[in-house]
Order: sequence, then C-alpha cells, then structure tokens
Amino acid sequence: MVMRFLRVCGLLALVGMLSSLVWGQTPGRLPKTEMPSVITVPAAAQPSDHFDVQAATEAYLAEIPAQARARSDAYFEGGYWLILWDFLYGAVIALLLLNLRWSAAMRNLAERVTRFRPVHTMVYWVEYLVLTTVMVFPLTVYEGYIREHKYGLATQTFGPWLYDQFKLLLIGIVLGAIATVVLFGVVRRLPRTWHIWGAVVSVVFLALFTLITPVFLVPMFYKVTKLNDPRITQPILRMARANGIPAQDVYQMDESHISTRISANVSGFGHTMRITLNDNLLRRGSPEEIQAVMGHEMGHYVMNHIYKFLMFFSIVIVAGFALLRWALDWSLKRWGDKWQIRGIGDTAVLPLVVLLVSIYMFILTPVLNSYTRIQEYEADMYGLNASRQPDGAAQAAIHVGEYRKMSPGRLEELFFYDHPSGRTRIFSAMRWKAENLQLFTPPCGGK
Ligand SMILES: [Zn+2]
Repeated sequence: MVMRFLRVCGLLALVGMLSSLVWGQTPGRLPKTEMPSVITVPAAAQPSDHFDVQAATEAYLAEIPAQARARSDAYFEGGYWLILWDFLYGAVIALLLLNLRWSAAMRNLAERVTRFRPVHTMVYWVEYLVLTTVMVFPLTVYEGYIREHKYGLATQTFGPWLYDQFKLLLIGIVLGAIATVVLFGVVRRLPRTWHIWGAVVSVVFLALFTLITPVFLVPMFYKVTKLNDPRITQPILRMARANGIPAQDVYQMDESHISTRISANVSGFGHTMRITLNDNLLRRGSPEEIQAVMGHEMGHYVMNHIYKFLMFFSIVIVAGFALLRWALDWSLKRWGDKWQIRGIGDTAVLPLVVLLVSIYMFILTPVLNSYTRIQEYEADMYGLNASRQPDGAAQAAIHVGEYRKMSPGRLEELFFYDHPSGRTRIFSAMRWKAENLQLFTPPCGGK
C-alpha cells in the first residue's frame, strides 16, 4: 500500500553504488508455494440443503497443511515483536543523536556549507537521512531481506534488493528535503501558529504523495504492462462496467521478481484510472479467485476509501501537531541546552521530532490498524456482491494467509490486523454463500 513508501528510509550512497554493480544478477528461484491453491470446493462448502457456514469455513481451513499454518503463524506473530523492536531501535538512535550531540554537529556542518537557511535544512536532512539509514541498516536487512527469505516470501537476490533500497533512499532524500524545507520554513515564520499551518502543509503533502505514488513511484520498482488475455480481462471489465468504474484496460504488474505475495489494486483518477493485477495473482489464482479479488479492489474504489482514509489521517495529523507542540516545548525546556538545540526552528531538533512522532504512532497502532481493517472488511463485502464468488474469496484468503495468521484471537485481530484475518474472511464469504445458495444450484439439477 501507499503507506509503505512513507516508511522510506533507504541506504548509504556508497552501498548503493556497490549494489548497482551487482544489479545484473538473475533473480532467485521462486520458492515453493506454502499455501495450497484450493481449486476444488471442499465437500462441506458445496451447495446443499444442509449447508452449514461454520462447517464450510472449517473445511476450507482444514485444506491448509499444519506445517504451512505453523509457518504463517510464526511469520505474523514475529511481526508483532518487530513493531516493538522497530520502535525501540528508532528511539535509541534518536536519543543517541541528541545526547552525543551528533545532531548539533550535523547542523553546524550544514551551516558551514552555506549561509542560505533553506539550504541548511536541506543539507541537514541529507546528513540525517544517510546517517540514520546506516544505523538502522542491520535491522532493515534482517526485516526486509533475511526474514522474508526465511519464510519463502522474497524472490530477490541481495544485489537487486540493495538497489531497490538505494532507490528508496534517493526518493526519501528528494521528497524529505522538500517537506523539511517547507515545514521548517513554516515553523520559523509562524512561531505562534506553526502547529496549525504545519498540519495543513502535512495534509497537502500526504495528498500529493498519494497522487504521485501510482504514477511516478510504483513504476520505479515494477514494470506495468497492458494485459491482453481476454479470458481474464473480459470478466473484469464487465464487472467494472457493472459497478460504474470507467476502466478501458486491465494492467499487469511484475511483482514475482520481488516477492511471492498476491496483490491487485485500482488506482488513478478519471482518464488515468486503471485496474492492476500482479503476476503472482495471475499465475496462482483461479479465475474465480481473480474475480473475487478484483471485486474487493473495486469496492475500495467505489466507496472512495482513499479519500476517506486521507480525511481520517488528517485528524491524526492535526491532533499529532497539537501534541507535538506541547511535547517539544516541554522537552526543550529541560534538555534543549544539553542537546545544543537553539529552538524549534533549529534543524538539530529533528531527531526529537522523529522520536515524539514515533511514540505517537506507536500508541496509535491499534487505532490505525482498526481503521484500515474496517475498510478492508467493507471491500470484502462489496467484492462478494460484485463478483458473486465466495469460493474465490475463500481461496484468496488462504493465499494471503501465507503472510497473515489465519485464526487469531479476537483481541489479537483488533490490535494487530490491518486486514480481516483469513478465518473472518472465509466465514463471511461462506455466510454470503449460504444466504445466496440459489446462485450455486444448477437450474435443472438437483433431485
Ligand atoms: Zn483491500
């Protein structure tokens, strides 16, 4: 999703140059598929007079081998700890930069480069991003490369992976420089009301970022091509027309050279509106599964989920800036001199800002997860109505179960899930099937 790019941290420039030397390497073999492709509908989920939603759900879950389930549980539960480790690791880095006065030293260096203030900010930003990227690099390699390979989710060799990290770093340098120059400009010019105008500017940046991501950023990592197989495109375009989506073509995205994950999306506005499936979905999904997934994606589009999320996140940003103002004043009064930070308009304050924002986001994790999970559930319901493929939806839930634990506890799902769990998704698909059983019984068949 778009938000993944917000966590851009990237890599050291030198490492990036090295990586481009090995960029020619062939991608790794596709790892063995961990979750089964359930092409035939299990007996308990076949239409019958005694169709039982719970039994049908259990029958689908029983298709998953114990080993695949254990692996998926371990991968996803490990992710809970990573939320904590990422937060703590980031906090330690911020405190080191402040207490060792490295942040003040980076500011002093930036001031020696030029006398022009916006350029100070820009230079400081590059120093800060490169240094923190290097410091966090061991965790980045573990999380983004070693762990993904260990669970058979990644297909990239180290060279190309590193090259992608380098591209992320460059994107972070350019977009981050623009954002920091503007935000520090606001803070320096409007010292009394910066928390209000800073929030407004941040919301505008978030909207622009959402807009440019499919057009400029996604093509930097994936090759997007027009899909020409009418057996796949016709049912999708038929469904699009039936749901008032003005798409002319269906596109394919080559994700298999990076990961084994299945995904699809509907992006863009007006004439740039497009439906995209990744090649993993095309390769592994049955026609029913592909239609169920596309119905879900169309639900996001028709229900304006991107705009609603932007509205919701704007509230998070406004509240965040209000808290940030209070917390910055409080911390600088106590430790400002010790950290050699001259005030809120001094770029050396950045590690403190990042620390405070990360505390805020860490505490909000369950709220943000729940907001997106509710949108995803809405899209699931829309997708069932649009595609009428409850068994395809169950298959898709099993496939994405490769990286998401299928059967969590209730509180676990509430706190950690940004999508409904596989069990919830299969259960709601089977409930839909039970309540629309006439669609699945042949008109002349039956005894
Ligand atoms: Zn979705």
